Amino acid sequence: MDHPHHDPHCIFCKIAAGQIPSRKVHEDDELIAFHDIAPWAPVHFLIIPRAHIASLADIDPDRHAGLLGRMMALVPGLARAQGATNGFRTIVNTGVDGGQEVPHLHLHVIGGPRPWAKG
Ligand code: AMP
Ligand code: ZN
Repeated sequence: MDHPHHDPHCIFCKIAAGQIPSRKVHEDDELIAFHDIAPWAPVHFLIIPRAHIASLADIDPDRHAGLLGRMMALVPGLARAQGATNGFRTIVNTGVDGGQEVPHLHLHVIGGPRPWAKG
């Protein structure tokens, strides 16, 4: 199950590899989306690349622009499918000052009827 872009200590790499369970809302060759384990709102899922990229600060603009576009392009359809039919927030926390807790690039999609726990 080892992959050149797999970090054996990374929790989201383990989710991508199926070594830790998750409630998936999407998966394809490149990306996975799954429910956040501690949701801030009625709808809260994360979109991650299967490949280990530590954060948005670690992307290579020449290599990763397409991947980032495909991550963002997934958002509206998945948000609607999960019931966020009246809008949503998309958040990418990056690094220490950005409040990033899991060092594997992920896009939060948060929505559903307010009020929400955060924001
Ligand atoms: P961040 O602060 O942007 O790094 O957010 C990391 C998010 O990952 C948090 O909202 C956590 O609740 C979520 N999270 C951590 N572990 C898991 C897991 N095993 N399954 C689903 N979500 C997780
Ligand atoms: Zn990882």
